[in-house]
Amino acid sequence: MTTQLTWLGHGSWLITSGNHRIVLDPFVTDSPTAPLQVDEIDADYILVSHGHFDHVSDIVPIARRCNSTVIGIFEITSWLETNEQLTTTEPMNLGGEIELPFGKVKMVQANHSSVLPDGSSGGVAAGFVIGFPEGRVYFACDTGLFLDMQLIGKMGIELAVLPIGDRFTMGPADSIEAIKLLTPRQVVPAHYNTWPPIEQDADAWAEAVRGETEAEPVVLEPGQSISLGPAD
Ligand SMILES: [Zn+2]
Repeated sequence: MTTQLTWLGHGSWLITSGNHRIVLDPFVTDSPTAPLQVDEIDADYILVSHGHFDHVSDIVPIARRCNSTVIGIFEITSWLETNEQLTTTEPMNLGGEIELPFGKVKMVQANHSSVLPDGSSGGVAAGFVIGFPEGRVYFACDTGLFLDMQLIGKMGIELAVLPIGDRFTMGPADSIEAIKLLTPRQVVPAHYNTWPPIEQDADAWAEAVRGETEAEPVVLEPGQSISLGPAD
């Protein structure tokens, strides 16, 4: 049993754990850095962090084709049920945890806005802590820095996925503070270099992580993967 996370660019992740396939915030059709087409993504579960187009725009085609279960905040799953007739959903809200075949999924706070593409309320933005067999992964998703990351760190985080793009989320400097609060074993950057306004130097970021925190930084290119657990 191994768990592998593949970065699809931006805030999108394809995760395989055992025989489960999960995609987080699928955004490939309109993403300039996506390594895959939307019809190449098979997923049993789709996690959605908030309502912005760069996180929800490819949910419906994947969910229809794969009959995926969509996991998200109540406002977004209700919107998908009403507007897109997606009936297989797992509604949640902040602080709640559910048990799914691939592990426990906890929805945690994110400091960000959330409106769906047609202007409907997307509730509030969220992040996720997922308990895979090899350890917990924290997807901060789109967020600014917040002190309660310390509480998330107390859960014991194997891998943290943090935005570093700045402007719409925290940038590199705040991500270093986040790592100090979260104390993950490994950390991977996301939500950067999709477009010029969120361009960042990931190697300089990794250098800062090594110098200022105990975490091991892992920088991926879109399409590259990281496996959880001890290095093989
Ligand atoms: Zn975003």
